[in-house]
Amino acid sequence: MKDSVVKDRLILALDVPTTAEARKLVATLRDHVGMFKVGSQLFTAGGPDFVRELVGSGARVFLDLKFHDIPNTVAAASVAASRLGVSILNLHALGGSEMMRRTAAAVSETAEREGLARPAIIAVTVLTSADASTLAEVGIAPDPQARAVALARLADDCGLDGVVASPHEIRPLRAAIARRDFLIVTPGVRPQSATRDDQKRVMTPGEATRAGADYLVIGRAIINQPDPVRAAQRILDEMEAASRSADSPRETTA
Ligand code: C5P
Repeated sequence: MKDSVVKDRLILALDVPTTAEARKLVATLRDHVGMFKVGSQLFTAGGPDFVRELVGSGARVFLDLKFHDIPNTVAAASVAASRLGVSILNLHALGGSEMMRRTAAAVSETAEREGLARPAIIAVTVLTSADASTLAEVGIAPDPQARAVALARLADDCGLDGVVASPHEIRPLRAAIARRDFLIVTPGVRPQSATRDDQKRVMTPGEATRAGADYLVIGRAIINQPDPVRAAQRILDEMEAASRSADSPRETTA
């Protein structure tokens, strides 16, 4: 696998409080990652204008706002996100099938009618910061992996393009879902030397790549390092080496 293809699979989480800091990271790292993730922190600070600015500069953007609301609201919010020109957007599978179906239909119809590129819509299954005790305290059967697989099946049935899932769920998900182009985007990735922070179900970049992730989402293990370019390059090297021995080499589709 060529280095550029490995790079396309690395998504940098722009988890910083200001657009000024985000712009600095984008300028420093745009040749070393394939996509930038704008999550609730930066979106709340910088708003849709910052997303438009990023997309306008030629960057690919994953808008990670994890919508979870009534079907009409999530469908409308996802249409608004599509109009920003993002490449990936997401919602919580726990919102249920009507929410997911209506969102997929509304985004596809709008994209067709308005001549927009349709973003990939992916479902959050179980947050990588959640473990059995987190699920138990909110009344969900305490088996993160079984939950993630069941929610991914539901997302697939509803016409979504993939899921966000812990690297530990990649193999069970690939075994459970027949579509080979079902996207698996995995946060909870930590190089061997890094701290886990609040992530509980983690793997290294090499392990996640070998297991068959389409995209790795990495934030603190790059952006909080003294030399973020070096940190990104080491992760890319690890992904590159692992991709040669991956379970099922995958093509980037989103
Ligand atoms: O710093 P770290 O690499 O842990 O950042 C992971 C990023 O991925 C964060 O922006 C977090 O919001 C996001 N994320 C996650 N788990 C999910 C979905 C998104 O950690 N299930």
